[in-house]
Amino acid sequence: MPQSFVTFSRNVFIPLTNVCRNKCGYCGFRRDMGHPEAKLLPPDEVAAILSKGARAGCSEALFTFGERPEEVDGFSTWLSELGYGNIIDYLVDLCKLSLRIGLLPHSNPGILERRELEKLKPFNASMGLMLETAGTVKAHEGCIGKIPLERIKTIEYAGELKIPFTTGILVGIGETWEDRLRSLKIIRDIHERFGHIQEVIIQNFIPKPYTKMASHPAPGINEMIKTVSTAWETLPDDVAIQVSPNLIPPGELVECGASDLGGISPGTIDYINPEAPWPNIKELQTMVSSPLRERLPIYPQFVKKKWFSSEIAPLIPRLCDAEGFRKAYK
Ligand code: SF4
Repeated sequence: MPQSFVTFSRNVFIPLTNVCRNKCGYCGFRRDMGHPEAKLLPPDEVAAILSKGARAGCSEALFTFGERPEEVDGFSTWLSELGYGNIIDYLVDLCKLSLRIGLLPHSNPGILERRELEKLKPFNASMGLMLETAGTVKAHEGCIGKIPLERIKTIEYAGELKIPFTTGILVGIGETWEDRLRSLKIIRDIHERFGHIQEVIIQNFIPKPYTKMASHPAPGINEMIKTVSTAWETLPDDVAIQVSPNLIPPGELVECGASDLGGISPGTIDYINPEAPWPNIKELQTMVSSPLRERLPIYPQFVKKKWFSSEIAPLIPRLCDAEGFRKAYK
């Protein structure tokens, strides 16, 4: 059942802003405007992270940040001080910067309009949005960006635009087993229509201190084995199942169908789960019995189909081997 190797990518994590219009019950990343840790990274800080990543052999710049922060009072002033009217235009320029430095952008800006995806597509090798759950959960109460139909719409727009895409489910946030199964079937059906889903993350909820869900139980390994096995049975063969090795030991999950370990960063922390350090690549290999193989943020099948823009194209031969995986890095 498991494939003969397990993939991962080497990335830098860029938490562009921790200001967000949503207030998910499990989030330990978001900060209110006025909080001393609320921030928007300026271009020079982003450039420093990207350059450090390029020196460390990374191929991916992962831009993950709060959703539509402009809707939070005061944030637009920060953006206008940098010369931007909205976060998407700022992100486009940072993706261009990333390409100049030699890293392929993968952006996760939350739910987007089709025209916003069109703007980002030329400068991203792939993009992502977790479905999280198709169910209605208390954890998402009052979060306009967590309405499942809105998230599904963004994933479908990405399909229409042929953007290689990452999505996934968050396990243990109060959803039922039926919600989980329905979420996986929705992702499967979208992929059958558009063919753009490259990986589905099966991410285990981890309670964070000082959040509403600080004492909510995390799913155990058996729950995760059952969920990964169900994902493997439900999803098409050309969609990778990803688990996060800094959040759960991946060995048994690989045995039941997980085939990707996501982005491992040699130089930045997981800002969403700062308490959970990423293993280095040697440690990662000891966690699974199959050999590791490094990939790019765009999966080999999409490299072969040339689902990338002329802006991305110059980096493909530089980073990619003949099979569409990461060229050996020395
Ligand atoms: S989990 Fe994401 S969408 Fe929810 S509050 Fe945190 S940053 Fe915002």
